[in-house]
Amino acid sequence: MQISDFKAVILDYVTRDQSGEIIDSSANDGYLTYIHGTESLIPALEQALAGHRQGEKLAVSISCEEAYGERDESLIEGVPRDNFPGIEHIEVGMQFQTEMDEGLPFLVTVVAVDEQTVTVDGNHPMAGKDLNFDLEIIEVRDASADEIEHGHVHHDGEPCQTH
Ligand code: ZN
Repeated sequence: MQISDFKAVILDYVTRDQSGEIIDSSANDGYLTYIHGTESLIPALEQALAGHRQGEKLAVSISCEEAYGERDESLIEGVPRDNFPGIEHIEVGMQFQTEMDEGLPFLVTVVAVDEQTVTVDGNHPMAGKDLNFDLEIIEVRDASADEIEHGHVHHDGEPCQTH
């Protein structure tokens, strides 16, 4: 069966950045599962997978522009420590959800901290990285109506954890 819209797809994957360093892999996080055509992956990655079949292996390179965008240094800013009430310990690498002007949720990562100021970076952690995927297509099947409604793949016999 070929990958096309509303197929449930299960992938073994390794993701490396441009220097060859492994960013993520199914060895760490388990198989990547998604429903094709529902915009749950980077669009360029879904496009590269379309038409391929169970058992195929493929290598896909995606530039940062097509992945999570270039880094934008203006998204790094200092925030008064007082803006984090109730949080006693703030350290580099912590992530906080904040809101953009339009009220959209927005994830920032702490990159520096001193007694007065917390410096946060609003870039996506993968911004500025060209991504190289080594993929093996483990399974392709029709997604169920429930899976399409939920927008994610259900594992055989396991009750849905999300809904
Ligand atoms: Zn579900």
